[in-house]
Amino acid sequence: MFDYLIVGAGFAGSVLAERLATRSNKKVLIVDKRSHIAGNAYDHYNEEGILVHKYGPHIFHTNSKDVFEYLSNFTDWRPYEHRVLASVDGQLVPMPINLDTINKLYGLSLNSFEVEQFLESLAEQVPVIKTSEDVVVSKVGRELYEKFFRNYTRKQWGMDPSELDKSVTSRVPTRTNRDDRYFTDTYQAMPLHGYTRMFERMLDHPNIKVMLNTDYHDIVDFIPFKEMIFTGPVDEYFDFKYGKLPYRSLEFKHETLNQENYLAAPVVNYPNDNLYTRITEFKALTGQKHPKTSIVYEYPKAEGDPYYPVPRLENAELYNKYKKLADETPNVHFVGRLATYKYYNMDQVVAQALTLYKKLTEKPEEAQKVVKPTIIGSASIMEKLVPRDPAKE
Ligand code: FAD
Ligand code: UDP
Repeated sequence: MFDYLIVGAGFAGSVLAERLATRSNKKVLIVDKRSHIAGNAYDHYNEEGILVHKYGPHIFHTNSKDVFEYLSNFTDWRPYEHRVLASVDGQLVPMPINLDTINKLYGLSLNSFEVEQFLESLAEQVPVIKTSEDVVVSKVGRELYEKFFRNYTRKQWGMDPSELDKSVTSRVPTRTNRDDRYFTDTYQAMPLHGYTRMFERMLDHPNIKVMLNTDYHDIVDFIPFKEMIFTGPVDEYFDFKYGKLPYRSLEFKHETLNQENYLAAPVVNYPNDNLYTRITEFKALTGQKHPKTSIVYEYPKAEGDPYYPVPRLENAELYNKYKKLADETPNVHFVGRLATYKYYNMDQVVAQALTLYKKLTEKPEEAQKVVKPTIIGSASIMEKLVPRDPAKE
């Protein structure tokens, strides 16, 4: 009998598995339909021996000391501050827009004070900032919005920024100084030996069993457990009862080039050209030395694995209907980017999972009831249930 069945071995599921197993002595079964742990943060050494992120670049950054200290139990870190260039008007310029972006783009030599005035002169008055277009035009005006944001967003989301919640483009600031870091969080670092190694250490506990290549539907009626933690798409859990929640997908095109370096920055964004949004060069993120280099192109698409919840009012309303169902479902806890339909970064998912752990363990033990049939499973299923061996994955 497991205390918890955890669906999904990404950040949300793995943090909860680790806490419940090591701190509360709970017996945990964590399943993932993919062939690996770590969810979208999964990284691996490719055929050339270069560490790559299968599902696109994952850069860790947080302002939360608690989250950083928690993850530090499972990894050492490589200090890393992310930088991005955007290809605009035939030039590569810093993104987020800063003093150097403006000077380079317009052939000017403004100082910080002057660039502030320059942007103020371009900014449009927007009485109430609601959309992702409003955010940008109210800060830098329409021309820069069109050069850097409009087409990138259309490509990435398949809709105009005016149709997306303000939170989307608000992720990218505008600066009047020369700071060209993509993030300004207190803690910015990459797991020294990669994300997957960090997850392996989180899940390496006798109370945790991992089943890969397993959709939870296939085992849920056969394996006894008391409570479920669900980190997959919330609409799927409820059989799309109210219709599909839109998730934006991506196609990743990985390439290894027979040269030591390729890009002028770890990531180059292409707002206006090409079908892809950005190219990432992994060695710049990981610090790995290698005579070849591996890159990934991201091609946005509507169908496919769900990667991004789409922040807009009608989707939030639909999600709220599912949330109501989720709240009314006893002994099933929904957590993570897909299950709570939130455009969360990794650190936010870790924080959300740690909060849920606290909530679960504050609950009196007696309240935890068996909710699923306790059929002692068929031999074939029980055979699959072996402690994981990272060496074989
Ligand atoms: P996931 O990692 O998606 O894990 C959910 C797991 O559930 C998946 O492995 C899935 O296979 C499994 N699952 C779903 N349904 C079932 C089922 N029926 N049965 C069994 N298993 C199931 N964040 C950052 O902080 N920095 C970044 O630079 C960054 N870059 C990103 C780049 C891209 C392209 C993407 C898509 C995301 C990025 N993120 C980044 C966000 C980050 O990936 C997420 O915040 C984090 O991975 C979410 O963790 P999770 O556990 O909620 O979900
Ligand atoms: N964005 C843009 N141009 C850029 C970078 C970002 O228009 O050069 C917009 C776009 O809508 C994107 C959002 O800002 O989806 C958030 O960007 P971020 O880099 O945080 O996206 P993520 O890394 O989550 O894909």
